[in-house]
Amino acid sequence: MKKKHKITVAKGDGIGPEIMDATLKIIEASGAGVEFEEIEVGEKVYLTGNTSGIARESWDVIRRNKVFLKAPITTPQGGGYKSLNVTTRKFLGLYSNVRPCTSLHPFVATKHPKMDLVIVRENEEDLYAGIEHQQTDEVVQCLKVISRPGCEKIIRYAFEYARNYGRKKVTCFTKDNIMKQTDGLFHQVFDEIAKDYPEIENEHWIIDIGAAKMADTPEAFDVIVTLNLYGDVLSDVAAQIAGSVGLAGSANIGEECSMFEAIHGSAPRRAGQNVANPSGLIQGAVMMLSHIGETEAAERIQNAWLKTIEDGIHTYDIYKEGVSKRKVGTMEFADAVISNLGKIPTTLKPVSYKGNTTLNLPKYQRKSPAKKELQGIDLFVHWPGQEADTLAEMLKQVESSGIKLSMITNRGIKVWPEGFKETFCTDHWRCRFKPVKGSEMTKSEIIDLLRATVVKNIDVVKTENLYAFNGKPSYSLGQGQ
Ligand code: NAD
Repeated sequence: MKKKHKITVAKGDGIGPEIMDATLKIIEASGAGVEFEEIEVGEKVYLTGNTSGIARESWDVIRRNKVFLKAPITTPQGGGYKSLNVTTRKFLGLYSNVRPCTSLHPFVATKHPKMDLVIVRENEEDLYAGIEHQQTDEVVQCLKVISRPGCEKIIRYAFEYARNYGRKKVTCFTKDNIMKQTDGLFHQVFDEIAKDYPEIENEHWIIDIGAAKMADTPEAFDVIVTLNLYGDVLSDVAAQIAGSVGLAGSANIGEECSMFEAIHGSAPRRAGQNVANPSGLIQGAVMMLSHIGETEAAERIQNAWLKTIEDGIHTYDIYKEGVSKRKVGTMEFADAVISNLGKIPTTLKPVSYKGNTTLNLPKYQRKSPAKKELQGIDLFVHWPGQEADTLAEMLKQVESSGIKLSMITNRGIKVWPEGFKETFCTDHWRCRFKPVKGSEMTKSEIIDLLRATVVKNIDVVKTENLYAFNGKPSYSLGQGQ
């Protein structure tokens, strides 16, 4: 007999247990080769004083089984509690967040009847690395961290997903006209990897106009791959305009482990009444079955679910007089899906996962290191004055024969030399020092420079080395430089 996949299941909080029971009942009825091991996460665990919301032994279960189906959980109000979703994604290296957003017209109201897109969102990096500092009285900073492995993994995932699910186009969204290093790397890696998939169309949009286009004409897109923050915002917009955030599921995929869920929360006010729509979690479960290779069961459930929606059997959140036929509770909806197993929808497009494989992506291979040359340093200075010329005079006192002040910016805008008096300045100044032409800079010269700032009472709050990689300067210029 074929070995069953063991799935870790967490029933969560609020409506979680109801929608999970409904979903598990459907999975079992579908004949999928899976068995479940339940763990406790969320509110109950938080309230025992465990601020992570999950016990150590539960991590062991998740890591052993590798596949995790999770109902929504309630993060208690008040400080100190860590979001279990974010922790799980980061701990398990779940780098890819996949959200299909397909309209169910005419059965669920939407302005976009032809919408059928998938958002593949980078899940670990970007501003969500959570590296924030206050540096001066007036300025706080959040580091945007983008890595080549992060870009390669998510972009390859998007193309492999497109190939596996018969999708025709992958669109990359970035803001690389502004963030030339971080978003620039994402776009560059997209162009590199797209070459490996000549049968799939590829394109790049600047995120602002791309998002506007998606909200207006979503049928213009097929698979969208983007960075963490943009993907977070965009995927909620996409789910909402497709019909409802209550109908969407999401997959979080890593090299070893994966987690599947509904995109909505625990809706505590609806808990315990058998009214919640289990569709989001059912969609998560379908993605899970497809991911582990149980494609036949995934296809049976998805087609039965589409048929149920099409039959007008709706929970309260999507029930509409004239369109819907019967208002049902959580379990009755699940029973209707079960009775439709083996049937296919007639108006909505049936799915076919035949020929799909489990996505097997190559492990990231580190490239040989580039030639790295130190070309200068930015000193970030906390100084409450207003006149950049005055600061420049102070900084000139720490120059050496080989290292000179070349530029000062304030919030990225060049204010010295030749700044505008109209430019508003905060107390946070980026002061760029460069070696005089022709000479390279050494680390000990940096230490000498910093020592001189201490002697002169200049408050350096952070430094950033300026490097060229393989001869290409890899740091931003000042705006206006
Ligand atoms: P929510 O998504 O739980 O609920 C918003 C509203 O949407 C609810 O009032 C409800 O009317 C409706 N709704 C949501 N899911 C529904 C469903 N399946 N069927 C019918 N109606 C549904 O968002 P919220 O109220 O902001 O958050 C509640 C709790 O959920 C918070 O503690 C939050 O931290 C948590 N949360 C958890 C997750 C997760 O575990 N993945 C995600 C988001 C929010």
